[in-house]
Amino acid sequence: MTKTMAINAGSSSLKWKLYQMPEEKVLASGIVERIGLNDSIFTIKYGEGQKYETIVDIADHEIAVEMLLKQLSELEIIADFNEITGVGHRVVAGGEIFEDSALVTDEVIDQIEGLAEFAPLHNPANATGIRAFRKILPDITSVAVFDTSFHTTMPKVNYLYSIPLEYYEKYNARKYGAHGTSHKFVAERAAEMMGKPIEDLKIITCHLGNGASITAVEGGKSVDTSMGFTPLAGVTMGTRSGDIDASLLPFLMRKEGIETIEEMIYVLNNKSGLKGLSGISSDMRDLEDAEATDERAELALRIFEDRVRKYIGSYAATMNGVDAIVFTAGIGENGVDTRKNVIDGLSFLGADIDEEANNVRGKERFISTDDSKVKVLLVPTDEELVITRDVEKFKNSSN
Ligand code: AMP
Repeated sequence: MTKTMAINAGSSSLKWKLYQMPEEKVLASGIVERIGLNDSIFTIKYGEGQKYETIVDIADHEIAVEMLLKQLSELEIIADFNEITGVGHRVVAGGEIFEDSALVTDEVIDQIEGLAEFAPLHNPANATGIRAFRKILPDITSVAVFDTSFHTTMPKVNYLYSIPLEYYEKYNARKYGAHGTSHKFVAERAAEMMGKPIEDLKIITCHLGNGASITAVEGGKSVDTSMGFTPLAGVTMGTRSGDIDASLLPFLMRKEGIETIEEMIYVLNNKSGLKGLSGISSDMRDLEDAEATDERAELALRIFEDRVRKYIGSYAATMNGVDAIVFTAGIGENGVDTRKNVIDGLSFLGADIDEEANNVRGKERFISTDDSKVKVLLVPTDEELVITRDVEKFKNSSN
């Protein structure tokens, strides 16, 4: 019996899932929050709806990992540390270096840290998580899985910005995208559900969560995606602006007395999107609750739907057609109205929603009418499973 862990380390958090492999059975999952602060929250979910939670001070990621392994033993979820034979780490930015997942070495960790400029909030934190596990479980298969890898197949025409080419040549300034593991997973699953080889399909995947991105997947490969150099670009998101005219930045900085570009970018990342538009919340559920009585909430919802629809239309043009549109992540899986409103405006493409089939949350299924030319699917994403499967590939190749 071997067990594999999927890890998503943030600067003050550690999210994890433990799988029984090769059965791909989830044994437990959890999160350590407020690492490095007082009153860290340590949660494990396991068994049939059982939960362990404690609040203690956890000074750093290493202590969080030690505590996690100890608690997994105490709860008899694992009999021994040695049962865990692999760990996969989500890493946000892989730049042009990592076209695929990589076995963790000292050099790989240095490279991940070297890409910090591409994801300042994420890569250093991801590297901290990797180091913590390596210190405590040095001999297991450790794999870094990058959010950007799936998008490394984008052609130059789509990843270059229309700025002096030297900036790309000198600094690798280009589009990288994100959510790659999710887009790959749901596109492959959609092809299976359609009973067709993915090589023959043009699929548009809509990962609509707090962060949101749309990807054009042609023949199983990402050919364009809405996030950019960083995850700030693309559609309207929970707190992120998505695409805007860069000239607005100096204008707003002058008007609002914002002194540094970092502060301005902070506004675009944290105070914009659904939150900034509505003035109420970044959470889709809050806006749906307020929609009937609050004009700004309604406006925010319509803008979100419009931006998603525009990207779908644009990617149908990029691929000169589309066979399937796939919805996933928090809003994509649960947002019945969002899906309906987005697809209702795409009848010109031949996409027609079946309202009854669409009236569902979090279940894999077709939500288009039987005679819809373009199939519309709801496919729950599972990024941890993609990470875990990648670890298995490395385990098997080293046996
Ligand atoms: P994620 O980042 O994938 O966890 O997605 C978070 C987003 O999903 C938030 O905007 C939530 O409001 C949204 N969401 C979760 N459940 C629902 C629901 N039942 N209806 C609409 N949106 C939802």
